[in-house]
Amino acid sequence: MARVTINDMTKKFGRVTAVDGMSLDIADREFMVLLGPSGAGKTTTLRCVAGLETPEEGNIRFDDESIDKVSPALRDVAFVFQSYALYPRKSVYENIASPLMARKVSKDEIDRKVREVAQKLHIESKLERKPAQLSGGEQQRVALCRAMVRQPRVFLMDEPLTNLDFKLRVEMRTELKHLHADLDTTFFYVTNDQLEALSLADRIAVLNNGLLQQVDTPENVYEHPANRFVASFIGSPTMNFLDCALTNDGTPALAADGWSLTIPDNVRDAIKGAELDRVVLGVRSEDIALRPQGSSGDLDAEVFSVEPLGDRNIYDVQLGSSYIRVKTAPTVMLDIGDRVRLNVDRARIHLFHPKTDRAIM
Ligand code: ATP
Repeated sequence: MARVTINDMTKKFGRVTAVDGMSLDIADREFMVLLGPSGAGKTTTLRCVAGLETPEEGNIRFDDESIDKVSPALRDVAFVFQSYALYPRKSVYENIASPLMARKVSKDEIDRKVREVAQKLHIESKLERKPAQLSGGEQQRVALCRAMVRQPRVFLMDEPLTNLDFKLRVEMRTELKHLHADLDTTFFYVTNDQLEALSLADRIAVLNNGLLQQVDTPENVYEHPANRFVASFIGSPTMNFLDCALTNDGTPALAADGWSLTIPDNVRDAIKGAELDRVVLGVRSEDIALRPQGSSGDLDAEVFSVEPLGDRNIYDVQLGSSYIRVKTAPTVMLDIGDRVRLNVDRARIHLFHPKTDRAIM
């Protein structure tokens, strides 16, 4: 158990700045997820915390102790990799026991610990097998058991569920949540899967190009993204973005080629407060209602394509010269080319600065 404080950390590889001035405070026992696309700098960040890379600038503390000069072995972290990294010739039992053997713990104590964690992760009946005789999900459980067999100050996990199929990933997500509650230890977890981040994290740190974009609760990164990158990276389908201008012919509105959407005064005031006359309107697909022609609604559009996903339909509709995506119940059946009306939930729209991409509302 430890609070982890990363202070203004920069790590470069030659000309590539993998992590750029990162400051991140992870509370004791927090489940912090570092989320970002491939190449964002996630693994590098974890490796710096583990002591496997040395940052050029900044420092890292565990509680009040600076660990910059502490060797990886003495940092007391457990690292779980995407690739499991199990010893192929050792049995499951020996794999799980290996961190304790290295610490010269007594045989009885090792046996008690191995069986305890194996039971927790439902692998106790496979202790005599070799890793190759296990499924991917079971191998990942063994890797987690090996990390859990001693009580590290911090768990570092680098995309541990990536190699699992969808069903197992969902199951393991639930297990990881239980594990975190059981172990009562700080988790620093890396993924590029926004669903994993939303479902696991106490807080999510969104990283892009080595730069932290936003650190906040799952609810807040979804409901109040700090910029267009966060808004587009989190949520599926991706948020709709429409470049538009503020107009005011009696009623304030946002308008672009072929459409105009009236807006409440507070939205107009936010745009004016930012001294803008053009903005990027962001609307999530679930915040637009799609109705057949003839219904009341804000905007006229035309169905371009439909993606039936079983529990919902995703419609691509043409709005003026733009295309946007709308999520509907599976019972909404419309054909390509049908004219429709759209209703936009004004209380849930987002506005972004057209140049800086920062959220202005
Ligand atoms: P992924 O999700 O694909 O694993 P990531 O977010 O973990 O990506 P990193 O592996 O941390 O990203 O890489 C960040 C940047 O640093 C990338 O541009 C990568 O090519 C570069 N990089 C990482 N390790 C090294 C290295 N040992 N030598 C040179 N460049 C590296």
